Amino acid sequence: MISCADVEKLRSIHAPGSAVLSLYLPVPLDPAGLRGLAAEAGDLMAGAGASNAGGASTAGVSDADRDAVLDTLAAHGRDWLGHTVVFFACGELGLFEATPLPCLLQERGVLATRPHVRPLLAALQRCPDYRVAIADRWHSWVLSVSGTQVETVARQSDEGPRSPGFGGWYGLESYRIQQRVIQLGRHHYRDTAAILQRAADAGRNVPLVIGGHHDSIAGLLQALPPAVRKDFAGSFTADPHTLTAARVRELAGPVIESWVARREPELTEEIFSQLAAVGLHASLAAVNEGAVAHLVVAHEGMIAGFVCGRCGALSTGSDECRDWGTAARAVPDLLDEAVQRTLDDDGQVTVIREAPFSIAAKLRFPVTG
Ligand SMILES: [Zn+2]
Repeated sequence: MISCADVEKLRSIHAPGSAVLSLYLPVPLDPAGLRGLAAEAGDLMAGAGASNAGGASTAGVSDADRDAVLDTLAAHGRDWLGHTVVFFACGELGLFEATPLPCLLQERGVLATRPHVRPLLAALQRCPDYRVAIADRWHSWVLSVSGTQVETVARQSDEGPRSPGFGGWYGLESYRIQQRVIQLGRHHYRDTAAILQRAADAGRNVPLVIGGHHDSIAGLLQALPPAVRKDFAGSFTADPHTLTAARVRELAGPVIESWVARREPELTEEIFSQLAAVGLHASLAAVNEGAVAHLVVAHEGMIAGFVCGRCGALSTGSDECRDWGTAARAVPDLLDEAVQRTLDDDGQVTVIREAPFSIAAKLRFPVTG
């Protein structure tokens, strides 16, 4: 599975001509569909590069890259049934990658000077890696989930109060036991919180799901330091004793799904309520000025346009920048160019499914013109 670090590595790749092939291919669940898939991949590769603005034609996908994709598909197609696979290929640069993605995406073939990353970002945002913490007064278990893989980060277990008769004791003795249990419990939440804090410190922030009994979810949530708490995505109730790693993923998956779904409209609302550019022209102007704090782009569709080879300006026409089109280079997708530029400028990017715009941006400062 692919990570944010992989995206950064891909983003550093640059070919002088429009020679990097990016091919997103959903592989059917039924092995019988594999034969048709090779033909579909062939069509997408033949179509890649034909979508440039101004009818600018490129040399197309090289035979070597095309064969490498088809050979790999023939050899590994069966390993990818039911997944979307992305290929990045450029023989000139010695680049060839084929990776299954954590969620299903539509097919797309693009030939450009660098890897087309917008669908990749969409996949990482829609099916993010996440952590799950499960705690009660005697156990704590922290897991990390990436795609279909579940890994235990830490697991602790203390002995609980000795039954029988715990509930039936009275007086001072019972009070002491209660106290001990409560202290132990608090201590455990703190331990779990500390593990989560270390995990957050060590890597990028990922959403956090908490599972367990009602009161232990509340207890752990309360013990979380603010830096961890802000990543809290939601919870599920379950008896920790009955949970397996696979069951944890089954229960946490829908929590993450609804967290992702909730964030899209929230983000759109946030954009509209703040200093923002909405729509292609305003957003491109903002990108060109380096004014974008957070770019929000639609997942679907591509918008062909131009990049000025001199000042780097993105535009829908080849004559829109100060250089009067002398150095304009056609690009297949301005949205991907805007994404790349925003990331280069340390801005944030979110790809959303149901956007009321193709592109919009939260701004660092007002843009004139
Ligand atoms: Zn220019």
